[in-house]
Amino acid sequence: MNALNQEAITHGRLEVICGPMFAGKTTELMQRIARARAEGRRVVVFKPQRDTRYATDEIVTHTGCRLSAVSVTHAREFLTHCSDYATIAIDEVHFFALDAVEPITHMLRRGQSVIVSGCDLDHFGDTFEPFAALIPLANEVLRLTGVCTRCGGLSTHSARLSGTTQRIEVGGVGQYEPRCAACFTPSHR
Ligand SMILES: [Zn+2]
Repeated sequence: MNALNQEAITHGRLEVICGPMFAGKTTELMQRIARARAEGRRVVVFKPQRDTRYATDEIVTHTGCRLSAVSVTHAREFLTHCSDYATIAIDEVHFFALDAVEPITHMLRRGQSVIVSGCDLDHFGDTFEPFAALIPLANEVLRLTGVCTRCGGLSTHSARLSGTTQRIEVGGVGQYEPRCAACFTPSHR
């Protein structure tokens, strides 16, 4: 068997779940984790250490569903924790910025499957870098929408309600609102 065929057989699958805040991204990630585990696959779940909104060793949806997760401060830590797992799930992947891309491509090359979820747009309306790099590598991209708080249309953006120049501000209900493109106003820099 030549190297190309070997690559085709062992290359892992990348699934990308993206969209604005309050669109159900973490819920979708949890469903995919549950499905993989039901198929007998070993799954490890990562989350950024910075995201301490609800718990430090769990991912938690806005509706209160929980799942154990490994908190890491830098994307390079993915590789030190994931060698025994068939599937690697990463929540809030935008927190890791471009640093997430190299470890993920490494996992895929060695045949592990990766599922990521996160916001593809920041509150300035700009693309979060890992998605620009990861979407072309993905076997599947699911872009979820929520409900625009202004008009009731499909939300694609996350509007920051209080002023900040920080690109990543951890926040939940009360700090961000889902908006459609027409109702979205980018934060001032
Ligand atoms: Zn709207």
